[in-house]
Amino acid sequence: MIKEQVDVRKDALVLSRELVEMPRPLELLSESEIEKKHCISRVMTYVLKHLTSQFASNGFEWLLPVILSQSTDPLWPDQCASIEKRVELEIYGKTVRATASMIIHKLVACSIISPKLFSLSPNVRIEKSERGTSGVHAYEFTQLDFEVRNASSRDIRSFVEGVICRLIENLKEDMGEELLYLGRYDDLRKPRIPFELYDKAELEKEYGVQWEKRMLCEIDYPVWVTNLPREFYDFEDFQSGKWDNYDLLLPQYGEVLSGGKREFEFGKIGKKMERDNVRKENYSLLLRLAEEGRLKPSAGAGIGIERLVSWITGAKHIGETQLFPKIPGIVYDL
Ligand code: AMP
Ligand code: MG
Repeated sequence: MIKEQVDVRKDALVLSRELVEMPRPLELLSESEIEKKHCISRVMTYVLKHLTSQFASNGFEWLLPVILSQSTDPLWPDQCASIEKRVELEIYGKTVRATASMIIHKLVACSIISPKLFSLSPNVRIEKSERGTSGVHAYEFTQLDFEVRNASSRDIRSFVEGVICRLIENLKEDMGEELLYLGRYDDLRKPRIPFELYDKAELEKEYGVQWEKRMLCEIDYPVWVTNLPREFYDFEDFQSGKWDNYDLLLPQYGEVLSGGKREFEFGKIGKKMERDNVRKENYSLLLRLAEEGRLKPSAGAGIGIERLVSWITGAKHIGETQLFPKIPGIVYDL
């Protein structure tokens, strides 16, 4: 059984994850499971401390997250999105939404106040129940979301590469015991810089629509994929049809980061919203700032913390990295 589980883990997203045991809530864990959970929790603490201090010491300002507001990420169109329900409620006569990502707030704050900012942002995404067995989806998770005014995609990618390499290097120095206990010490190797960069359109030509599954089995180090058609806020060159955005894929685990250069021109944002059937009335402040020329060019990304820690710790299911697992399709007492 253990062997089978390891095989499933290696071919993540390729084979069904039916064999992967669902993480259970804290009160049902055995002593050895508590020990493992505690170990993952120590690695999580180290990762959070390391990442936030790298951002802060590189001049990023730390924005506290928002939970409810009129505008949040539409999560549409995105081929990877699978949202069963949007969390909306009425307060003070207005409809507000639970944060799906801080993208809109990042763009506004980065344009008006902080040219370099980051946030540890709780995201609520009610993923379809079948994603409970994907092993990489939770319906509540945390993003380290960041944005830099006037940055290029390349600037962001090379910053992230440095951050990941330093993190792995320091983890191996300071968390060796934990990584050995989790069986990850040898396999977790510092990648070479620059990470390889692939164009999604070319990958699709070569491997077909299943390109991501193929890539995950073939790569040994994190790789970038660029030119991904998706939400209106990522930069699209209308002439060439290419998108100046990127995902970072981790071997066997998959996407851990999405980001891009951003749209800031009023006319272009409006056209894309109309084309994609995004409701403009949900983005009225963003549109007004763009119309007034107050939205500035920027680039940034969001790193899924639980996915990053899953990869580092070799977790079979993302819920193992959460003290209170939020697995699609399952609502525990806490
Ligand atoms: P997105 O902008 O939708 O690509 O989300 C940014 C990052 O958040 C992704 O690259 C993932 O690492 C992480 N993420 C997205 N959805 C989920 C989810 N349902 N559960 C856990 N992590 C997620
Ligand atoms: Mg993404």
